[in-house]
Amino acid sequence: MSGWVVIAGLGPGDETMVTPQVRAVLDEATDVVGYIPYVRRVAERPGLTLHESDNRVELDRAVHALEMAADGKRVVVVSSGDPGVFAMASAVFEALEAGPADWLSLDIRVLPGISAMFAGSAAAGAILGHDFCAINLSDNLKPWELIEKRLRLAAEGDFAMAFYNPRSKARPEGFARVLEVLREACEPERVIVFARAVSTEEQALRVVRLADATPEMADMRTVVLVGSSLTRVVGDWVYTPRSVE
Ligand code: SAH
Repeated sequence: MSGWVVIAGLGPGDETMVTPQVRAVLDEATDVVGYIPYVRRVAERPGLTLHESDNRVELDRAVHALEMAADGKRVVVVSSGDPGVFAMASAVFEALEAGPADWLSLDIRVLPGISAMFAGSAAAGAILGHDFCAINLSDNLKPWELIEKRLRLAAEGDFAMAFYNPRSKARPEGFARVLEVLREACEPERVIVFARAVSTEEQALRVVRLADATPEMADMRTVVLVGSSLTRVVGDWVYTPRSVE
């Protein structure tokens, strides 16, 4: 029996947003690996072993998945949203690069999912409807100075922005600083959408102007979507026009 590794995105939460392609590999898998809350989204069944691990152990998890595949298992590594957006796909390739050369002949595939920024932008309208960028606000794996630099340059470039991992208990001051930087770089009327738990029963969307945004509006279940200078509110909707005049 030949093993494989599939790194799959489970989407933002709603089960109907899991792609049929991802469902099909989960049906064929012998082992599922991932961060506890994501693995819990996979239904148990005979013949399937669920391996839950804590966050911050992405590389160990990736090595474990590759070892099991080399052993003939059919392994799915699950991420929320899209596995290539601040998630497990890069971790698996880092482990592959650092691992034994025979891992290079393993059957590895990455299956996309609906990332939080797309689900959040759709729920609000089309805030990412023109040029945009995504920034991970966690400073676990990069220096805070780099986050601020990218933020300033994105604001200068007038990109709409999607912020992931905006605010953790370990780092409560970080997001307050982000708002300060935005206030220095953007006008007070800039539109911000705090999109929390998008596509789940707890979904909450909050549309505010930069002047009224506070750090408490974001938590680790929130993707923060900042409009460009052209982003507009029409009725309940927020959108960025396709053209710049
Ligand atoms: N790979 C994921 C992102 C993982 S980083 C993706 O593509 O969506 C985890 C961060 O994603 C969270 O801190 C939050 O900012 C965001 N996120 C994930 N699911 C979300 C959801 N349902 N609603 C809002 N934000 C979400």
